[in-house]
Amino acid sequence: MSEKTEELRKSLLRAPKNGYDRISAEDKAEMERYCRDYMKFMDAAKTEREAVSYTVEKAEAAGFVAFVPGMELKPGMRIYRNNRGKSAIFAVIGKEHIDNGAQIVASHIDSPRMDIKPNPLYEDAGMAYLKTHYYGGIKKYQWTTIPLSIHGVVAKKDGSVVTVRIGDEPSDPCFMVTDLLIHLSADQMKKTLAEGVTGEALNILMGSEPIADDEGADRVKLGVMKLLNEKYGIVEEDFLSAELTMVPADNAREVGMDRSLIAAYGHDDRVCAWASFEPLLNMEIPTHTAVCVLADKEEIGSVGVSGMQSQFFETFMADVCECQKGQLRRCLERSFCLSCDVSNAFDPIYAEVSDKRNNSQINYGIALCKYTGSRGKGGCSDASGEVMGRIRRLFDDNNVVWQTAELGKVDQGGGGTVAAYMANRNIDTLDAGVPVLSMHAPMEIVSKLDCYMTMKGMKAVYHD
Ligand code: MN
Ligand code: MN
Repeated sequence: MSEKTEELRKSLLRAPKNGYDRISAEDKAEMERYCRDYMKFMDAAKTEREAVSYTVEKAEAAGFVAFVPGMELKPGMRIYRNNRGKSAIFAVIGKEHIDNGAQIVASHIDSPRMDIKPNPLYEDAGMAYLKTHYYGGIKKYQWTTIPLSIHGVVAKKDGSVVTVRIGDEPSDPCFMVTDLLIHLSADQMKKTLAEGVTGEALNILMGSEPIADDEGADRVKLGVMKLLNEKYGIVEEDFLSAELTMVPADNAREVGMDRSLIAAYGHDDRVCAWASFEPLLNMEIPTHTAVCVLADKEEIGSVGVSGMQSQFFETFMADVCECQKGQLRRCLERSFCLSCDVSNAFDPIYAEVSDKRNNSQINYGIALCKYTGSRGKGGCSDASGEVMGRIRRLFDDNNVVWQTAELGKVDQGGGGTVAAYMANRNIDTLDAGVPVLSMHAPMEIVSKLDCYMTMKGMKAVYHD
């Protein structure tokens, strides 16, 4: 190859590099620090409620105050609004007037799981069970025979609310969904993966010891209820006003001999939530007001009072505008939103579902996703070339290792994020986030480098 061709190649062709060939030693040390904190967050926050409690506590310790409409807002002030304990918005007031727009990062803190039905507890064959209805997109067979824990709240008739969390501590019992032994699975093994384990088969094994000295029915169920009553003061009817959910009991773990990866429940999308929240804690006064949205209900369509489609976002932004005698419409029109959500990392074991040239890859950094959707980009917010250009420039200027992503081959499937709901509000919006292996499985895998680069990217967005 002549020198001239080599020059041409360098100047004209794109040559993506592995993030480890681009990261500085300083960044690498900071990456380990960041990932340790992230893993702590993951162990503490397995539900949206726990994610809100954890981030609000950290924020308050860093000087954030609960926002009150009408309060005086000065540059550098740190405020937050807790939406019913299930979603939250954090903001650092910028030097510029709010009419000049905000720099927003929106991610979600709900993850696929199994929710407890309103009338869940029953006994069969000398064992007690809880009935569940799964939440979000799961491969049901993956949720059998793994240790599970119960998280959530019970709103009692007297108006009090008790918080429930059993199964994560080594001294706790865990819970489990059973599966059929292989010896008798001749019929089950002929079914498709979608049909092999049904939704109504996802019943949680809760106990087996009957209450003694009683010949009545359902003595095991009674025994379980007695223990729940002793621990939480609840009775069976209280399940009707409970919000209990089954999540994997395991904590986050480093993966691989080189410890370069992290396995945890619910990287989608708490890995992006943490990446967008953490930079706020010691942020210097930004030019534009920095807004971090942690939304709920993305996995079931961003609906409901705590989802990204809720008016909660407008209410908060309008209240902030009013404090500065600004206008919500002006503000949104000049705002930018990075919809921070995970993408599917290329998995060579399942290479056939992806266009390798356009899929995101482990260790190539935060993945920019111009569009999501399915069947011809259906239902997505297709970001403009200009918006892509702006972020590409911003990330390069800030030494953020980035790549691009597309969710699988054309017509292979698809998915969505909160991006469309932000763009509908007249906000320029782009999807970007961490590539994930085994997305929506009980334990998902991400790379430390991609986690860290996503945080660096969000920092750059806030300061743009
Ligand atoms: Mn997601
Ligand atoms: Mn998801």
